[in-house]
Amino acid sequence: MNHFEYKNPTKIIFGQDKITELAKEIPAKAKVLILYGGGSIKSNGIYDQVKTALADFNVMEFGGIPPNPEYAVLMDALDFIKSNEINFLLAVGGGSVIDGTKFLAAAAYHEGETPWDILTSRKPVMKAMPFASVLTLPATGSEMNSGAVVTRNETREKLAMGGPALFPQFSILDPQVIQSIPERQIANGLADAFTHVLEQYLTYPTDVLLQDRFAESILQTLIEVAPKILKDPSDYKAASNFMWSCTMALNGLISQGVPSDWAVHAMGHELTALFGIDHARTLAIIAPSHYKYNMGSKKEKLAQYAERVFNISDGSIDEKALAGIDATESFFHSLGIQTKLSEYTQDYKGTSELISERFTERGWMGIGERGSLSPGDVAKIVEMAY
Ligand code: NAP
Ligand code: FE
Repeated sequence: MNHFEYKNPTKIIFGQDKITELAKEIPAKAKVLILYGGGSIKSNGIYDQVKTALADFNVMEFGGIPPNPEYAVLMDALDFIKSNEINFLLAVGGGSVIDGTKFLAAAAYHEGETPWDILTSRKPVMKAMPFASVLTLPATGSEMNSGAVVTRNETREKLAMGGPALFPQFSILDPQVIQSIPERQIANGLADAFTHVLEQYLTYPTDVLLQDRFAESILQTLIEVAPKILKDPSDYKAASNFMWSCTMALNGLISQGVPSDWAVHAMGHELTALFGIDHARTLAIIAPSHYKYNMGSKKEKLAQYAERVFNISDGSIDEKALAGIDATESFFHSLGIQTKLSEYTQDYKGTSELISERFTERGWMGIGERGSLSPGDVAKIVEMAY
């Protein structure tokens, strides 16, 4: 097991009607900015619950953060924060609103030239305005981790940031919020969380027994609840297990002491930036090709995954590994998610070369758990996903 230090300071408040507890968690004198997305919180009642809970607070609001939080919109929010002397941010939304809020928390205290530097420098964020979240969409794990991804339409870029200052102070998780989520977004949440686990689990073999079993248990839980939550989002048992699995998939627990890959996300982000494809769907496009291309180093782990998660016990290591990849693709299909780029756009020719050039320009010369995938490898993987 690799050495590690593990600290996750985010307090989780989980359960039915827990939004009512908001007031206990925010400093009484705070000047709070509620941040939200395109308005789903207004039609499903979450906005009213938050406003009621914060009735005695000095509260302002900023709505309109789009899916894949857009830099230009966030810069407007940053002006708003500065001109209104806001000192506490409350994200009410899914990963996009929470990630946008993390960017704002960092940008509010950023001393460099332009806040975009936070994304291009890749330096860990050490200072940020206090912030918290009310999660409305289980998927990203952003409610209990210190990462964020921001999109800039002007340059068709989507870049990640992170650092110890970007853990939410607390996050409220009420599984009842899932009732209003459209089927497409529930499927996305399942696929995103599933792939988060794969990125931290499907690496070269290690001596880490416990994290493997944590990872497998999250995957098995997601597989078990998927048909139930898609059929009936008000099924509380399925909803609560779905929600907690998504958080546990990316709160640091399963990545301690093990290598992690993240190449699927790196390539997937480019497909969102170039074609606007939903984040989770880009992962379903890239993952099968990535695992096939990297069979050489990943086959032992893939075979273990096939055996323990999908009960595939027949065949050689290679056969089981390939069957595991096929089962993964079938799982995505069972969610109604297509796994080829050409099923999303007819404009895909040249994508592999373009992504490979972008990686080279950024100096991303080696990605994956060993830093060994060159831009040339990336081009081949993306082409296999056409
Ligand atoms: P999202 O982009 O936050 O939300 C997708 C859609 O779901 C929005 O249209 C939103 O509508 C709607 N929605 C959210 N909650 C709802 C509810 N309770 N009822 C009805 N509709 C609801 O989706 P996401 O998958 O959570 O976030 C994706 C972003 O997170 C991507 O940018 C991705 O790259 C990033 N990401 C971050 C991490 C991380 O660790 N930080 C990890 C993976 C991915 P409204 O806008 O109207 O609310
Ligand atoms: Fe993701």
